[in-house]
Formats: sequence, C-alpha cells, structure tokens
Amino acid sequence: MSEIRIALAGNPNCGKTTMFNNLTGSNQYVGNWPGVTVEKKEGKMKGVKDVVVTDLPGIYSLSPYTSEEVVSRDYLIKDNPDAILDLVDATNIERNLYLTTQLLELGKPTVIALNMIDVLKKSGDSVDTEKLQAELGCTIIETSALKGTGVKEAAAAAKKAAESGKAFIPTAVFSKDVEEYISKMEAIVPSTVKSELKRWYAIKLLERDSVVLAQLALSSADSAKAEEISKELEKAKDDDVESIITNERYVYIQGIVSRCVRKSGQKMTRSDKIDRIVTNRWLGIPIFLAIMWGVYYIAVSSLGTVLTDWANDGLFGDGWNFLGIEGLAIPGISASVEEALTNAGANEVLIDCIVNGVIGGVGAVLGFVPQMAVLFLLLSFIEDCGYMVRIAFVMDRIFRKFGLSGKSFIPLLVGSGCGVPGIMASRTIENDNDRRLTIFTTTWVPCGAKLPVIALISGVIGAKLTGWDGGSLTLLMYVIGIGAVVMAAIILKKTKPFHGKAAPFVMELPQYHLPQLKTVLMHTWERLRGFIVKAGTILFVACLVIWFLSSYGFASPKDEVVENGEVVEESVEGGFGLVDADESLLADVGNVIRHVFKPLGFGEKVGGWQSAAASLSGFSAKEAIVSTMGVLANVDEENVEDDAVVAEAISGWFATALAAFAFLMFNLLDSPCLAAIATMANELKSRKWFWFAILFQNVFAYVLTLIVYQLGMLFVHGHFGIGTVFAFIFLAGIIFALFRKDPYKGQYFDSKTAS
Ligand code: GDP
Ligand code: MG
Repeated sequence: MSEIRIALAGNPNCGKTTMFNNLTGSNQYVGNWPGVTVEKKEGKMKGVKDVVVTDLPGIYSLSPYTSEEVVSRDYLIKDNPDAILDLVDATNIERNLYLTTQLLELGKPTVIALNMIDVLKKSGDSVDTEKLQAELGCTIIETSALKGTGVKEAAAAAKKAAESGKAFIPTAVFSKDVEEYISKMEAIVPSTVKSELKRWYAIKLLERDSVVLAQLALSSADSAKAEEISKELEKAKDDDVESIITNERYVYIQGIVSRCVRKSGQKMTRSDKIDRIVTNRWLGIPIFLAIMWGVYYIAVSSLGTVLTDWANDGLFGDGWNFLGIEGLAIPGISASVEEALTNAGANEVLIDCIVNGVIGGVGAVLGFVPQMAVLFLLLSFIEDCGYMVRIAFVMDRIFRKFGLSGKSFIPLLVGSGCGVPGIMASRTIENDNDRRLTIFTTTWVPCGAKLPVIALISGVIGAKLTGWDGGSLTLLMYVIGIGAVVMAAIILKKTKPFHGKAAPFVMELPQYHLPQLKTVLMHTWERLRGFIVKAGTILFVACLVIWFLSSYGFASPKDEVVENGEVVEESVEGGFGLVDADESLLADVGNVIRHVFKPLGFGEKVGGWQSAAASLSGFSAKEAIVSTMGVLANVDEENVEDDAVVAEAISGWFATALAAFAFLMFNLLDSPCLAAIATMANELKSRKWFWFAILFQNVFAYVLTLIVYQLGMLFVHGHFGIGTVFAFIFLAGIIFALFRKDPYKGQYFDSKTAS
C-alpha cells in the first residue's frame, strides 16, 4: 500500500488545525474563532511513515453554499481520502453530530475524535463514549488536541480504519417514509457513481442540491423523475425537502444525545458568566473600546515608547552607553556605518544613499518594531483567549440593523493584523453582495503596517499640540475605520447591487481559556516577521527608489553669486544630476499631484510635494509612507532614524495639526497596498467590481477627509472658503444617503445570481 491519506473534518473551531499541527509538527494558524482555515492544508504525519493528513476548513454541513463547504466537500468526494478523522467538539455534541451524520453517509472509513475532552471534564458534563460508539457504529477516541492527549491514538485508529477499508453507513437516521424516497432516488443515480456513494448522492438529489444535479448531468427524463420524487415527499410531509431532511437528522441526533450525554445541571460556566458582561447589549461596545484603548495605550504610549526610544537612541542613534561608563558605549548603526564608509574612502553620494536613503528610510520603519512587538503580543493574547470573536457577536446586533451579519466583522478583525488574510477571510460570507461589500471595506481597519504611520503622524501632531497622547489617536483611527465600514455598508445596502437580507449568523462562541505561551508568541512572531521581511525587501527597494528620485533631477542653471568679492553661491550648470530635494524628480511629480490634496490640507506649496510623494509610495506598502518621510526628512545625520526627530522635522510640512490628521486619515482609508489590491482582484473575480472597489475606496476616503478637514478648519480656525462649501454639500449628500428610505425594503433579490 502506498500513502494513506487521512482528512480532518469537523465544525469550525473544534480544534482541527490544532490537531493537524500536533500530528504533523507544523505551525498552521490556529485562531480561537471559526473561519480561520479557508483552504485545505496537507502535511506528512510525524513519526509514522506514509501517512498524509489534510486539514480542511471547518463546516457545519455538506451543503454547497459557502466556499469552505465547497472546498471540504470537493476534497472528501473527489480527492477520495482513505479515511476521515471527524473532530467532534465534546462540549457541543449536538451541533457537531449534524455534520457527522452527513460525513458517515460518504461511505468512508471514519473515526471520531471527541475533542476538547479536557474542557468537557472541567465543565462537569459527561459523555458515555462507549454508548455513543455503539450508536454511531464507528470508533470514537477521546482527545484533547491542545494538550496532546489521545491524539496519537486517534490517528492510529484512523490509519487502521483506512487499512481495513471498512465503512459504516448509518441507516437509523431517517424515518421509514423518507428511506423509501431515498431508495427510489438511488435508482436514478447513474451507475458511474461508486456504490458506497450512491446513498449520499441520492440524499443530495432529494434535497435538490444544485451542484450535484449539475455534476451528475442526468438525462432530462431522469431529472424530471428526481424532481417528481422530491415533490412527492414534500407533498407527503407537507414541508420542503431540505427542512424534512434537516429535521429528521436533528431528531435522530437528539435521541442519541439524550441517551449518551449527561449535563451537570444548569450551572453557568465561567465563560457564560464572562459573556454575560462582555457581550451585554449596552456594555459590549464600551468594554471593547476600553480594552482596545488599553492595548494601544500600553503598546503606543507607555511601554512601547520606552522600548522604541531605547532602540532608536541605541541601535540607530548614538549608541548605548551602558551604566554611563565611557568605554562601554556601543556606537549606533548609522554613526558607525557612516564612519566606516568614510574611512573606507567611499564616495559621498554612496554614503548619502546608504545613510539617508536606506538606513534613514528602512530605519524609520524598523524603529517601530518594539512598539509593534508589544502591540502584536497584546492582540494575540486577546485573540487567543477567546475575547476577539465576541466582538463579532456584539457587532452582529449592530450590523444586522442595516442588513449585514456579524460575519462581516471577522475579516475586519483578521484585517487588523494584515489586510491580505483579512480580505481572504471574507470567503466565509455566503452572500455574494455582502462578501463584495466586505472586501471593499476590510482594509479600512488599520493593519499592522499602518500603525507606524499613525505613530509618526501622532508625533507630528504632538509637535504641534501640547499634551497630545498617541494611544488615543490609534484608537481613534480604529473607530474611524470601523465607522467608515458601517457608513459604507448602510449607504451601499440601500442600492440595488448590494441589497439583501442579513444572513443568519451562526457561530459558537468558544470557551475562554488562558492561551498557551507558545501560541501567543508564535502569532506575535508571525506578524512581526512579516513586518521585518517587508522592511528588508519592498521597503528597501522603495527607499532606494525614493532616495534616487529625491536626489536627482533637472537643475536649472544658476549664475555665480558674488558678494563683497566672495563667492556666496557657486554657479550651477543645469541639466540632469544631483540636485536639492526641491528640484528633484520626486518634487516634480509631487508638485503635480499635490494640487489634488489641497482641499484636504496637505497639498500646500510647503511640504505638499513630500506628502503627495509619501502617499503615493504608500501603495507599495503602507510602511513606505514612513520610510519615504524618513528619507525626505533628511535630518542631521546623527539622528537620522530617531522617529521623534523625524516627526519634528516633517511637522514643518503640515500647516496645522489638522492637516497632519487629514493626511493620516486619507492614507488609512484610500486603496490599500499593492499586495492587498492584488488579493482584492483575486477575490472579487470581476474586473468591473475591482475597479468599482478602487474608485469607491479612494472617493470615499477623499470625501470623508475633506469633510473632516474643512469643517475642522471652520470650527477650530474659523476659516471659511470654497472648500467649506463643498464639505457641507458632501456632508449633506452623505447624510441623505445614510438616512434615506430604503427603496428596496421588503424586496429581496436572489443574491446568488446578482452580479
Ligand atoms: P479549527 O477551526 O477546527 O481548525 O480549530 P483550531 O485548531 O483553530 O482551534 C480552535 C481553538 O480551540 C484554539 O483556541 C485552540 O487552542 C482550541 N483547542 C483546540 N483543541 C482543543 C482541546 O482539545 N482542548 C482545549 N481546551 N482547547 C482546544
Ligand atoms: Mg482551522
């Protein structure tokens, strides 16, 4: 026998990926919420020869509605694994067995891993595993994927089942009447279908599963007959087939559960008690904001700043002087590099390129690594302990009011790390309209790469306003991002292409648990690594490009200026070559673009081209905004990468704190970086929708920023101009779009076919 392939299947969040990592020794992302695994992953089993394990996306049923269902179902049917290891969450047997009954119908050797057994034991409930095994007819092994207990045994049982090739198809699930219709339908299933799959196909035909209907390509006589059989059953039971089948499955499961599961009583678990408070209708959002504020306060304002200052002063600045002892001082990077290059007799242009271009730009970003590390650590913690997903639950109540489900919030949560997986997480949304809407708006929530931008601009604002606190700005940008998503959703949901009812939001809230240190550190490192890798690749190149563009240009010829017989300014010949930044190619481009940003406050003659160039470079990666500013700030070489010094230097580019804020706001809401844009194109799969998304993001960002800037100028600085008029017009337009009556109220389109 060659390789044995075992597929891990089960509901979302039942521990499949944890089990997979355990079995294969890999480090796939384990998230304490559903919808994390959207693609299947394969891995060789550790310590056992020739066994391949596949981690499938979590699903609640084998219907073909969501892309996870399609991925998992296709794998199980077409790729034909040798055995299924079905993970059942022991704390939620009833819901999990619904999928199990369907998996067993696939006629494959199946073993059940009764996972989360540790949680079950703690809760005081109990399961009679032997009885359950007898009822379902397949081997059941109690496991805790997290603690590693029973995992080896479960895999061994699955391997044994695969080798024996024996399957058990339960026949007690449906009532006698329904069974009769299933047999009738089996006669129609083409003979090309493997005999063990006949029953499954028959049930699917009965349910009018569109994918199966298309796949089997029945003759028109046969499909008419199939339809006839479904209709007959519906008539006999006075219900639609899907409900009939679903109900019978649940009745069967309830019977089993009543015989095999013993609840310890109605005692509330600790998780329930915590949830009573954190998902409370009124307290949920204030608690979320308070927690996020705390996270940002620690990461950006207090602990993070201390670490960042230490790193900047030492690593990139003058070096550390441990204990204040002269001889123990270690010089910082740029000082030493510059010295080394000078000593080696390097050319001045090269020194400038390396010190100001590369170290200045990349260093400006890397200087934020300590802050990022603290932030990612805290975010990983509140994610892994199970809190984050509660927010989706809390947001569901709000989103539902205007036709979106809390499911649309999951991509936003994932997107707060990086927009690319955030956009991909939208695959869990069944409804095409809502999925599209979510793809458009996911990147409005500040991702990790945007945090250095926020921190830098916070420094700029701090240089202009005394008593400014950076932690609150980060939280504010978060709130603005989510607010923009909500606004866009309300507005778009009232238009025909996006209209539709909110999908039901079924999601189990996982138990709270103290996360494992290893998992938290792994998540933190994963995110941090992405950040550092980008600094070494995309940002490195971007800095070189920006340095070149800002150092070279066409100089206008100048005459020698002589005062009192002394040459004050030398004559310049003109033509292409090294020039002052103001005459550089980048300045030429920036000076054209900056006019667009005038109404937003950062397109003025002073600093405008730099802001425009930085915004433009943000498309390569959002951190590039910081690195570009680092290059262009061109502060004295001693402190070239100290972010506070960079912030001081660039604060001159913005006339007011408000202009700096507008710059930040626009750059957070406009189109994301190229990587995220490519992902958007990939997920939208339509050129029309892709360009609509790009246009929508930028126009929306522009309009919102214009309103904030112009009204801010009016109320804070008493400035009134043509821009103010436009701000009021746009504001009125947005208010109208938000509050107008829903023209499609009560009318629902078939969102699956809308395009
Ligand atoms: P998947 O969606 O099925 O792939 O589930 P994951 O493997 O991502 O796990 C979901 C969550 O459950 C994570 O927080 C895991 O740490 C946790 N988890 C998985 N298995 C167990 C278990 O046996 N016991 C406990 N207490 N937690 C578990
Ligand atoms: Mg998973």
